[in-house]
Amino acid sequence: MKTYKGSCHCKAITFSFDYGAIESGLRCNCSICRRKGALMSAFTLAPNEINIESEDGKLSLYQFDTNIAKHYFCNSCGIYPFHKTMRKPGHYRINLGCLDDVDTNAIKVEIFDGKSL
Ligand SMILES: [Zn+2]
Repeated sequence: MKTYKGSCHCKAITFSFDYGAIESGLRCNCSICRRKGALMSAFTLAPNEINIESEDGKLSLYQFDTNIAKHYFCNSCGIYPFHKTMRKPGHYRINLGCLDDVDTNAIKVEIFDGKSL
């Protein structure tokens, strides 16, 4: 296990969690993911497995359609550090590009067909 730390670009939102080696990420073609182009964690974290700290009022929420998935973003820098997934409501996926020590070009990419959900 290792402690991963991450943040949005302006660091108004920071987070950390413990996990093993991150060897792959998820690229999804749903209507929002394809616009963001982010490589998300293939694993999910329960709310008690991630520590999130944000400056007052910086963490904004975007929802659409069924309103099950919760897409969080920093309203200062616009970066999207994590979301709560539709497939496992209440659980987080992490934007791997927001992590300090992960090279998103060096890990395997899994393609996920979210468009068809
Ligand atoms: Zn920010």
